Amino acid sequence: MENILRDAHNRIIRDLRVSLTDRCNFRCFYCLPNGEPPLARKDTILTFEEIARICEIFVSLGVEKIRLTGGEPLLRRDVEKLVEKPALLKVPSSKFQVPSEEENNPKAESRKPKLIDLALTTNGFSLVKRAKELKRAGLDRVTISLDSLKKDNFKRMTGVDKLEEVLEAIKAAKNADLNPIKINAVIVRGYNDDELVDFARFARENDLAMRFIEYMPLDSAHEWKREQVVSAKEIFAKINEVFPLELKDASRGNETAWKYKFKDASKGEIGIIAPVTEMFCGACSRIRLTADGQICTCLFSVKEHNLRDILRSGATRAEIVDFIKDVVFQKEPRHYINDAKFAPASRSMSFIGG
Ligand code: SAM
Repeated sequence: MENILRDAHNRIIRDLRVSLTDRCNFRCFYCLPNGEPPLARKDTILTFEEIARICEIFVSLGVEKIRLTGGEPLLRRDVEKLVEKPALLKVPSSKFQVPSEEENNPKAESRKPKLIDLALTTNGFSLVKRAKELKRAGLDRVTISLDSLKKDNFKRMTGVDKLEEVLEAIKAAKNADLNPIKINAVIVRGYNDDELVDFARFARENDLAMRFIEYMPLDSAHEWKREQVVSAKEIFAKINEVFPLELKDASRGNETAWKYKFKDASKGEIGIIAPVTEMFCGACSRIRLTADGQICTCLFSVKEHNLRDILRSGATRAEIVDFIKDVVFQKEPRHYINDAKFAPASRSMSFIGG
């Protein structure tokens, strides 16, 4: 059997998103406006050792990118210690940590580590004091959420008065060389669609990769309205009018964003992620692991797959691999946001891991 994760639609999984916690200290209206739903019991949350073991198995099955997320991943205590573990999967095989049950397995020894990219998505609130340590632990880069450049609007959108802290976090990430730094902004009509050009200017002046994300129906309050979605087309047009843009690559590959450079060769990059108006499920290479050890095959899955219990039942590596392969095979062909019968995901983006 091939040693790769392929679904029933012939898509290969290369990208694992691992949620480290279901807790978050921001109250973004498009995600967790009313705070977290009841938190998972502490003993159901995966330990660092369990996360490390799962990452190692996924990498052995062809995953090349791991993104640590949440909830707010920096709320997890000693996250630097966790980062050190998957970071080992990037270094030459002498340091590759093969679980003890595999130590005498010649096939396991010959496996080559293939992790290429270890990233973390954060709201940035405690990054200033942790950026250097995260880099030292082996983190390659960060994505920082920033929904407004205006103090009042930032508070309106995120529920917290922390714009200055997030701007400082971006500087700290740069100083720690957590590059390329991406900045995520969810664009919502009536909230921050008037800031598109300001964001583009911010990207140019600070040499950052802005990522504009269409608002998806993943908010825990289920208040998403189609009229609030600002389409990729509109985002592009508004920026292009002031700062002409040029597509970087003719193909998006399995990336989520169409990437643009500025025609005047300025620094910075614009990326537009359009899951609602330009669905890209056909090229999806992603799979998600929740903080309590459930595999989600799609952000909009209504079914989760309990990897934690398999892991804790004393299953062998082969059994765990079989389980993961079987789950991947069930990955949904696409999301159904635009269908009349659309049903919201079982849990909010914050729990699934954005
Ligand atoms: N706490 C971290 C943060 O704020 O970046 C990581 C988790 S957060 C769920 C990950 C990303 O999901 C953020 O960039 C956030 O803006 C995005 N997100 C959350 N809800 C969304 C929604 N309804 N539509 C589009 N993006 C969303």
